Amino acid sequence: MPGSPDAFPTIGILGGGQLGRMTAMAAIRLGMRVRFLAPKPAGPMEGLGETIVADWTDPEVLLDFAAPCDVVTVESEWAPAERIPPLALEEVGVWPDPATLHVIRDKGLQKATLSEAGLPVPDFALCATRDDAFEAAERFGYPVVLKRFRGSYDGYGNATAADADELSAGWERLAEDDGLLLEAWAPFVRELAVLVARRPDGEHVTYPVAFTEQRDHRCHAVVAPAGIEEAVTEQARRVALRAVETVGGVGITAVELFEMPDGRVLINELAPRPHNTGHYTIEACHTSQFENHVRAVLGWPLGDPSLRVPTAAMINVIGRRTGEATPRGLTEALAVPDVSVHLYGKREVRPGRKMGHVTATGTNAVETRFRAERAAELIHL
Ligand code: ATP
Ligand code: MG
Repeated sequence: MPGSPDAFPTIGILGGGQLGRMTAMAAIRLGMRVRFLAPKPAGPMEGLGETIVADWTDPEVLLDFAAPCDVVTVESEWAPAERIPPLALEEVGVWPDPATLHVIRDKGLQKATLSEAGLPVPDFALCATRDDAFEAAERFGYPVVLKRFRGSYDGYGNATAADADELSAGWERLAEDDGLLLEAWAPFVRELAVLVARRPDGEHVTYPVAFTEQRDHRCHAVVAPAGIEEAVTEQARRVALRAVETVGGVGITAVELFEMPDGRVLINELAPRPHNTGHYTIEACHTSQFENHVRAVLGWPLGDPSLRVPTAAMINVIGRRTGEATPRGLTEALAVPDVSVHLYGKREVRPGRKMGHVTATGTNAVETRFRAERAAELIHL
């Protein structure tokens, strides 16, 4: 059982990407064993423990995978944790709860759940038909944002429509059998993110509010602290915690927020796992998001999430070509002072693929971000 004083726990991770990799590294540092299950070979999980590549939707595969584990967690909301047979659940904890994954996976159900709980979200409509979408867009006013209910990430399933023609084109391109989520465009002043680490018994800690900047709908930069007014900080933390409690999040849950011109915050979306906007916590906080994810799913004492440096900046290292990854530019990047480089072990580079990240720490936010940008720019995998 988790927490047994006589055995080092084994943590099972569904998924073989960078989030699983960094979670595993935190678990290994605490002396744990790690097992991965992924549907196809993945560089990031290699060399970190037992790796199983198999059909992860097969209950027998899941049973074999889960049996030696004390706890099973996910590195993606798409991991089929709900297929773990009930037999395994008598012995093994599965966190986050598959019910939480179910709510978060569907952007429509997620928005409706948060809104019903009285949490602030942009105006939205669950549109089954084109006519529903036109009606909602008229009601909200253009521009509007169309989002696939399921399966999108890094903005791939989204489109912004400035007028009826663009709405029509977006609907054609994105709509699935059950339609699309339509949101009013939120004229935010900036985007923020808050991570909450929460245990099965509800104990929790909340990370500092971070500023996030997307490029091509993809996270590019994260700066912590966000450098915003105290009232906005407090509101962001309060809203984030209530959102996580509403969906019953366990482990790390990330809350993406819009700060509006009037100082209100709206929730964009949740992620039931460690998140790109929390990578800075490895170097910049007393306890990283990955370690607190591990501690939380085991029901162990949570670590201090506060900053141990005045400021930190994280920049993603994104693929810029297609081919086999090489460490080109790594040594140059390592020469930049007070910068940590993380590469994810992905063998193949593709334009837009998240290959790694760099975090700089320092005392001045502008100078620190500049150093992080410079180091990331030097790396050409
Ligand atoms: P990711 O995987 O990067 O989180 P995603 O595919 O899940 O992305 P969203 O988070 O829904 O997509 O949207 C991506 C980005 O698009 C947001 O971070 C924000 O910059 C912009 N965006 C999304 N919804 C709205 C909105 N209603 N108003 C304004 N901008 C929006
Ligand atoms: Mg998002």
